[in-house]
Amino acid sequence: MRQSKMLIPTLREVPSEAEIISHQIMLRAGMIRQLAAGIYTYLPLGYRTLRRIERIVRQEMDKSGAQEIHCSALQPMELWEQSGRASAYGPEMMRISDRHERQFALGPTHEEVFTTHVKNEVRSYRQLPLNLYQIQTKYRDEIRPRFGVMRAREFVMKDAYSFDASLEGLDMSYQAMHDAYHRIFTRVGLNFRAVDADAGAIGGEGGSQEFMALSEIGEDTLAVCTHCSYAANLEKATAFYVPLELQSAGLSPTKEQVSPVKVATPGKRTIEEVSSFLSVSQEQLLKTLLYEADGELVAVVIRGDHEANETKIKNVLGVGNLELAGEAARQKYADLPVGYVGPIGLSDLGIRVLVDRLAASVFDAVVGAGEVGFHLTNVRPGIHFNIDQTYDLRNVVSGEPCPNCQSPLEFYRGIEVGHIFKLGTKYSSTMGAKFLDQDGKEKVIEMGCYGIGVTRVLGTVVEQNYRDDAGLVWPMSITPYHVQLIPVNANDQVQQQIAADLYERLLAAGIDVLWDDRDERPGVKFKDGDLIGTPLRITIGRLAGEGIVEYKDRRSGAVDQITWQDALTRAIDQVKSGIMRQGNEGEGRI
Ligand code: ATP
Ligand code: MG
Repeated sequence: MRQSKMLIPTLREVPSEAEIISHQIMLRAGMIRQLAAGIYTYLPLGYRTLRRIERIVRQEMDKSGAQEIHCSALQPMELWEQSGRASAYGPEMMRISDRHERQFALGPTHEEVFTTHVKNEVRSYRQLPLNLYQIQTKYRDEIRPRFGVMRAREFVMKDAYSFDASLEGLDMSYQAMHDAYHRIFTRVGLNFRAVDADAGAIGGEGGSQEFMALSEIGEDTLAVCTHCSYAANLEKATAFYVPLELQSAGLSPTKEQVSPVKVATPGKRTIEEVSSFLSVSQEQLLKTLLYEADGELVAVVIRGDHEANETKIKNVLGVGNLELAGEAARQKYADLPVGYVGPIGLSDLGIRVLVDRLAASVFDAVVGAGEVGFHLTNVRPGIHFNIDQTYDLRNVVSGEPCPNCQSPLEFYRGIEVGHIFKLGTKYSSTMGAKFLDQDGKEKVIEMGCYGIGVTRVLGTVVEQNYRDDAGLVWPMSITPYHVQLIPVNANDQVQQQIAADLYERLLAAGIDVLWDDRDERPGVKFKDGDLIGTPLRITIGRLAGEGIVEYKDRRSGAVDQITWQDALTRAIDQVKSGIMRQGNEGEGRI
């Protein structure tokens, strides 16, 4: 393509609204423009790259045996009522009504729609398994759209849904998607890790994994074992734990032997303040957090040096909504004072107390006294306050033992680019998607669902492939153009002729070329080239008269002066092998 004919509106200035590098680069390179908060238009360069990513997704999905369909983004609200998610999905769902006041959702996801079609079309086990997918626009009224296309209100998702006759079948469908995702993220050139994940609002009991692109700007924290293959989202990562009996072996004091001692801690509310005031370690303090869980007050007791894990707490309680209790809720129950609440006496107020496993094993703990300005010392969990059962309620911390092999865990930041779930019968049972098995018995279909944020992948590739010293360098597999041709002087006949020859021959070899034929200063062309990210650059300059051009591999930084004919063959080889090589990179490059 001749650059003079293209709409590539590059910007010199860093747009003030863009906080992260990929958002800045995508705006500066003229790939995208924002139309409204979280709503973007993909300009030629951005759209071209997006289509290349979609192509890889499509190829790998088809290879896995999945079939592409295309659904409407508009979904009748009744479907969401049937699945029971109409209200559960909350304000993130964009709702509209037609001229007859019929309610529709602009689809945030399509479990209901796919389940409905399969319910209507599938009767017999002979029609299973089935995996259907689409690449389509999704709408979510994100509370905080940000980071450009990473968290948008309109975005492209590849969503697939598998339908199986048995749990073993579901396991196979899930594994096939896991493997396809692995190939997709490898081919698009991401550095990623698959991690165990919480199933969240989409639900399902069977398990779920997220594909995380490693990046400092990632919103998720990953706990990865330094030794074995254990890797989990922090929301999900299980805390290693030695059972209580072992820890307290030989120590079973009775109530009579010790009693809590009330000590004044005036104005000391935080863990740091109380621990330094009383000269006790944070590990010895127990904090009692009050939550409203689906409207009910619940107390959570964890060690002072730990953070509560709200996903785990939600799962233990089986609630959808969990928030730290506000003033009103505290007042309803004896005006529980912030910073001084302790576990003793809470059950008498009808408040359920959940105790973390490690908190339960703290010997001689310090807890809030339930009275402003006081704490209790010498408190023995299970003796001075009742513990029916203990749970894993905290975030693991970096360096603590892996739950599998007890080697230290390391933390990374990650961007979630894909998520796979075993749904089981969560949707098929509520929506009545059934089939007749070999014996003519009616059974409920086992489902899985599998999403890739296609537009988020685009932003993530930019984020991972930008270097301050080299600019953006696209992976060969998805670059909008493989080679950029830059004749330094637009009026030099020899330079123009070599550029034209190279252009024709590269195109004939199936290479995508961006020919910067604009009458601009060389500096401008090079700057735009760095923004656009083309991996190979052939500059035709001073030595054009001798048939010599400058060949630059922008990823390695290597620059060579070679004949234009050598540049041609080298570019063809490098593009072809570069696309193939992408297959050897990918997961595990931590
Ligand atoms: P997140 O935790 O980032 O909000 P999610 O759990 O809501 O993601 P899913 O419902 O699993 O996401 O959607 C499948 C994929 O779609 C995600 O893995 C992500 O890559 C992408 N995605 C989700 N929300 C957005 C968004 N607002 N903008 C762009 N991509 C998104
Ligand atoms: Mg979300």
